Amino acid sequence: MPKINLKALSKQEVESFIKESGLPAFRAKQLIHWIYERYACSIQDITEFSKDLRDALSDKAYISNHVLLDRQISKDGTEKFLFELEDKATIESVLISEEDRITLCISSQAGCALGCVFCLTGKLGLKRNLKAHEIIDQIINASRLILPRRITNIVFMGMGEPLLNFENVVDALWRITGLMKISPRRITVSTAGIVPKIKELAEKAPMVNLAISLNATTDKVRNYIMPVNKMYPLKKLLDACREFPIPPRRRITFEYVMLKGINDTLEDAKRLVNLLKGIPSKVNLIPFNPFENCEFKRPDDEAVLRFQQILVDGNVIALIRKSKGQDILAACGQLKAKYTYGRKI
Ligand code: SF4
Repeated sequence: MPKINLKALSKQEVESFIKESGLPAFRAKQLIHWIYERYACSIQDITEFSKDLRDALSDKAYISNHVLLDRQISKDGTEKFLFELEDKATIESVLISEEDRITLCISSQAGCALGCVFCLTGKLGLKRNLKAHEIIDQIINASRLILPRRITNIVFMGMGEPLLNFENVVDALWRITGLMKISPRRITVSTAGIVPKIKELAEKAPMVNLAISLNATTDKVRNYIMPVNKMYPLKKLLDACREFPIPPRRRITFEYVMLKGINDTLEDAKRLVNLLKGIPSKVNLIPFNPFENCEFKRPDDEAVLRFQQILVDGNVIALIRKSKGQDILAACGQLKAKYTYGRKI
């Protein structure tokens, strides 16, 4: 009989497994604690269990772990991890250290089907959805790798569209908040705009933060750079944001990757102010980080500042985000893309 992967089990399934193994209920609690808070790599790591118990459990179960294929550290401290899954699919996670927080940016799919034209992951296509434990294992592995530092915030902004892997992402969110004990206030799910699932996220997931990868102020430009817009155009997307229940003192984050001559004009900035009316929002302006053979350019710093000023004058909170880890290809999907195209960096 194949061994059971304990990390793939829900809390209830771990409890049943312990019961069926003839063990007292508190063993399930210990097991969950060691997997999610002490990052045990194997049952043998659980030193709270006797050697006999560890051996007995190891005969029928195991704890899976992503294999670390590569780890790169940027001059600015950003770290990238390339992980291999049990079926050899590869995904990446990015760790961003700031003064008051350490954020892990995680993937929800291997690849992505949405094909945003400014994104290397989009060019790879979708390999498959990640299971809930594969999403969480990025946090567990990165947490173990950076000890004694601790991850404080999680963002679903790595490879893939989280809301197209809805069930697994929601399952992962419940485990991250319930079993890893990370507050939902410190978790952000970012979507390219899968409108029906935005509402469902509010209904079915813990009350996490929502981010929208917006990147354009007209349907014409958004259709071109983010084909998902043809199915869920700007008006529908922003209406869904208006209806999203936002707790007091929280805002929806709008990510805006600035592409020179495409979406960085003063008219765009003015339109953006109007589009966001009625939504408690914050805009992150991200000057594009060009990759090899890409058609887009990064706007000049002056253009970025002018754009920001129009938003601020329109009472929109707007921050300019520096592209982190440029020297290690930290833009979405770039490390993975290098591997896929067969040229290890
Ligand atoms: S930007 Fe995000 S949604 Fe768009 S192709 Fe890349 S990974 Fe997918």
